[in-house]
Amino acid sequence: MTAILRYLAAAGIVLLGPAVSAHAKPIKVVATLSTFADLVKTIGGDGVEVFSIASPKFNPHFIEPKPSDVVKVKKAALFVHGGLDLELWRGPLLDAAGNTKVFPGQEGELALSQGIELLEVPQGPVSRAQGDIHLYGNPHYWTDPENGKRMAQTICDKLCAIDPDHEEAYQQNLKAFLDRLDQKIPEWRSRLTPYRGRELIGDHRAWPYLMHFLGLQMEHHLEPKPGIPPTPKQVEFLEGYIAERHIPAIVRAAYFPQGAAESLAKRTGARVLLLCQNVGELPECKDYQSMIDYNVQQLAATLE
Ligand SMILES: [Zn+2]
Repeated sequence: MTAILRYLAAAGIVLLGPAVSAHAKPIKVVATLSTFADLVKTIGGDGVEVFSIASPKFNPHFIEPKPSDVVKVKKAALFVHGGLDLELWRGPLLDAAGNTKVFPGQEGELALSQGIELLEVPQGPVSRAQGDIHLYGNPHYWTDPENGKRMAQTICDKLCAIDPDHEEAYQQNLKAFLDRLDQKIPEWRSRLTPYRGRELIGDHRAWPYLMHFLGLQMEHHLEPKPGIPPTPKQVEFLEGYIAERHIPAIVRAAYFPQGAAESLAKRTGARVLLLCQNVGELPECKDYQSMIDYNVQQLAATLE
């Protein structure tokens, strides 16, 4: 130690010993969606540097990653995604990046679908012959906050495994997140209790987990099948269905083209209800909790 450092230390000006910053080198994480990135940041805190690829303004199934995204994946220590066939662009992106540390099955890969009880799992053989998706079950599970809790736990387990030195901090962040959701979940459920069993029309089959959480129904969508754009035949069917069942609203994510929803609403008198499928899709949905809160309040206000 130099004389000057010794002097400063004695004067209490320089802190000696282990690095002052607990996270001199945060873990580089790439998440496919903004919602996943938000959860990783919530649990990882200062221990992670998170980048998300898909803008919440676009359909998460059909993103075209940019060359800069490929570079980010190349440098990532952890790649977090939704699993199943959520990101149809995931495989090509990983191939382009060529970072074997984050390839499927490696320690640097995390599929958030693990441990989730999937809805709409097809029975019997499946194929993409008609261009449809959701072949392994519905991949939009994060819209149910009970699943958000599971995903946070999965993220915490992974961060603790690859960075055990900061396990305590990750566990603390997880506990704080779970406590907040545990407090909100009964409030959210009770807000919709008076409307249990009510039916809505959807855009894409992105909402079954939210409907299931709140006790609402959504059997039919503008898309005749997941990933197939609205057809005149489907719109005509919905027109009759909405009238017959007195359905009050058509749910649309901000990214979903508004034309078909608006014209169906105009002809039937149903309202178009704009919900958030991902964090940042609307300014009100700045993080995971505020997104669920916004969706719940919007649904309640429409059904009132
Ligand atoms: Zn989908």
